[in-house]
Amino acid sequence: MPKTIYLDNAATTMMKPDVLEAMMPYLTEMYANPSSIHSFGAECNVACEKARKTIAGLINAKDNEIYFTSGGSESDNWAIKSVAFMKKDKGRHIITSAIEHHAVMETCEFLAGNGFEITFVGVDEKGILKLDELKAAIRPDTILISVIYANNEIGTIQPIREIGEIARSNGIIFHTDAVQAFGHIPIDVEKDNIDLLSASAHKIHGPKGVGMLYMKNSARITPLIHGGPHERKRRAGTLNVPGIVGFGKAAELSKKEMAESTDRIREMRNYLIDRILGEIPYSRLNGDKDRRLPGNVNISFRYIEGESMLMMVDMKGISASTGSACASGSLDPSHVLLAIGLPHEIAHGSLRMTLSEFTTKEELDYTVDALKEVVSKLRSMSPLYEDAIKNKEV
Ligand SMILES: *Cc1c(COP(=O)(O)O)cnc(C)c1O
Repeated sequence: MPKTIYLDNAATTMMKPDVLEAMMPYLTEMYANPSSIHSFGAECNVACEKARKTIAGLINAKDNEIYFTSGGSESDNWAIKSVAFMKKDKGRHIITSAIEHHAVMETCEFLAGNGFEITFVGVDEKGILKLDELKAAIRPDTILISVIYANNEIGTIQPIREIGEIARSNGIIFHTDAVQAFGHIPIDVEKDNIDLLSASAHKIHGPKGVGMLYMKNSARITPLIHGGPHERKRRAGTLNVPGIVGFGKAAELSKKEMAESTDRIREMRNYLIDRILGEIPYSRLNGDKDRRLPGNVNISFRYIEGESMLMMVDMKGISASTGSACASGSLDPSHVLLAIGLPHEIAHGSLRMTLSEFTTKEELDYTVDALKEVVSKLRSMSPLYEDAIKNKEV
């Protein structure tokens, strides 16, 4: 199999050809500034507004509640920092989860070093937020609850509606990082009681460097990026017209194909999980089997080091991940795997494979065969495995 088997769709996705086609005019002859008064500018503005409408429609928001950004990281930073800045006289306590993406976690850590207090609420062994712990963490000075919609490493989907209800009934702003969920599973910001929501185009087969922050009209926050009057004076900077048009096209395709393609991806995901757990001893699935993103597979292989496994499957043409792309390169095991209670040595032996609608069964069969070979080779070289055999653990 010469071409790459791409199983890293949680890190980024392939841009769809239809998305590129929609963007092309705005990378070439349709170059006007959408804020310009002339009709050329107005035409480009129409294209951005069409994208805004499509994106709003995907989460049951109003058009004027969508603010374009440079991506998920900016949206997360904007939501959290602006709420902190706006509400600091009311209170300086923020609640988040122990399994956030780095864009939320590091933003909270930054605020912790600047006079705010952060509570990281724990999760159970499947990665589901402990709602009792969340309720108990709420204080009179709590200004924000930020919880990831669906986790990027283990795929667990949170009880977002319940979390939103808890926030609302306590008069606390609720932000969710929905970068992994948006366009993949149905989201309804009204029913889910969401005030602020982050999404990104490149996780749904759109272009990189563009995303959005949904901001409920009743929960408007101050700008993070100051300057011109773009985005209803809330996010300065000339609009990334080609990116926004591509994001809109990707959202349109997601909406059209979601029901059908998620069923298919889920089936493939379960096929991959079942084959690995059935055919490779001492492997375990991380996260919840059912409340899980359609394309997420995260497996720990005992007596193995994840980085070595990643490199060996890479040599066989398979692109996967040891956890989150951001965490690779560091020697610490994933904070998400530690939060679900895995001991360090097991957390270290984990591999994330994330599927898309372009993944084929042949690719998965090839991957299982490759994994079997790699795992038995690495175990045969592992002193941990030898010890385990000696001590009859195995
Ligand atoms: C990818 C990702 C981000 C960051 O989005 P960018 O557009 O790459 O900045 C944030 N949160 C989650 C859950 C992600 O998966």
